[in-house]
Amino acid sequence: MSDLIITGARILGADPADIRITDGVITEITDRPGGLEPSDGVETLDADGLALLPGFVDLHTHLREPGREDTETVATGSAAAAAGGFTAILAMANTTPPTDTAEAAVHILDLGTRAGLVDVQPIGAVTKDLAGAELAELGLMARSRAKVRVFSDDGHCVGDGRVMRRALEYIRAFDGVISQHSQDPSLAGSTACCHEGELSGRLGLPGWPAPAESAIIARDAMLAQHTGSRVHVAHVTTAEGVEVVRWAKARGIAMTAEVTPHHLALDLGLLSGYDPVFKVNPPLRPSEDREALQDALVDGTIDAIATDHAPHARHDKEHAFVDAAFGMLGLETAFAVVHDLMVRTGRMTLADLAERMSLAPARIARLDGHGHPVATGSPANLVLVDPTATVTVDRESSHSISRNNPWHGHTLTGAVHTTILRGRVTAREGHAVTKEAHQ
Ligand SMILES: [Zn+2]
Repeated sequence: MSDLIITGARILGADPADIRITDGVITEITDRPGGLEPSDGVETLDADGLALLPGFVDLHTHLREPGREDTETVATGSAAAAAGGFTAILAMANTTPPTDTAEAAVHILDLGTRAGLVDVQPIGAVTKDLAGAELAELGLMARSRAKVRVFSDDGHCVGDGRVMRRALEYIRAFDGVISQHSQDPSLAGSTACCHEGELSGRLGLPGWPAPAESAIIARDAMLAQHTGSRVHVAHVTTAEGVEVVRWAKARGIAMTAEVTPHHLALDLGLLSGYDPVFKVNPPLRPSEDREALQDALVDGTIDAIATDHAPHARHDKEHAFVDAAFGMLGLETAFAVVHDLMVRTGRMTLADLAERMSLAPARIARLDGHGHPVATGSPANLVLVDPTATVTVDRESSHSISRNNPWHGHTLTGAVHTTILRGRVTAREGHAVTKEAHQ
């Protein structure tokens, strides 16, 4: 029995087609005039004027459960993700306590299943308590029901080369990948809060030098080559970091990279007002870096877009710049920001966007059931977007508990219309649809 018929959808922006979904799988696609006959008891979704893409996959989401449920839970983060067009998110390990055991990973997985809006895939810590010294239970997490394949101490860099090497040797057995927050701790110091350069000097703020990022990417490229394991560069931000990734790929090293919408679209000039909403780690960089990131996204040096969605309470964020917490919200705005910046301007197609926001992230994470092309036989994890809708972002209308939204007041072209997880509508025009509301 059919679950859903979508009519008049433009797959990756092509000519209108009708799509039949049965038991969570795409079973028929037709572009003939007249299309699919609606049948009794089957929900029909009119997608006239909308583009249909594979559901987005976020390689880098910070949910704050356990430990800081006052800022985000698995359920509220899942709702924000569904509203943003995501069908799967990877939950970073830096909760309190961190996800550094199989039991903790399975707990996150189960909380995600209970929320039921997106598939929540836990990321495992590389080291115990994210302390950078002793390896966490990598093998147990991989063999658990959570099937962890992505490991990260994100928030911290695995700075010790010997620890990174051992972790890479270990994860090769189950085709894991380490997502590295590339930032040499000895170069960055503990007080940095923005990009080191002319502006940081003028503002009197301690900064991170660009080589703190690129030097770690270079070290990790050599370790990946030596061990034959996969390294993924989380949130690359500098032109020279991109150059190292490009060099590693040219040598055949198994290195992939992601960029955030905020590093693509915003630069450090915004810091001159000392507004902590723009305080993020790694920091916003000069416009030359931003342009290099955009070029690298277009030419494929950067494989994926990831949000680094990082919710914070007002009382942690609204401080003097040096004391405020690092991070920004991103799940609900990612598509609009990237569409407005890269697709509306003609630099990327909707197919390119689908590759960077769905296919590539699912492939890097070895995530089953997501990142498939929109084709017969694929799981019906889908998103309908309206490429012509113009939306002004309002931080108060968010599913996130937190409000640290750097896009507040921005007007963007491109909106998520409907998100579909295994044939079930999980969000409609910016609002998550819970299972109960559905029945
Ligand atoms: Zn990070």
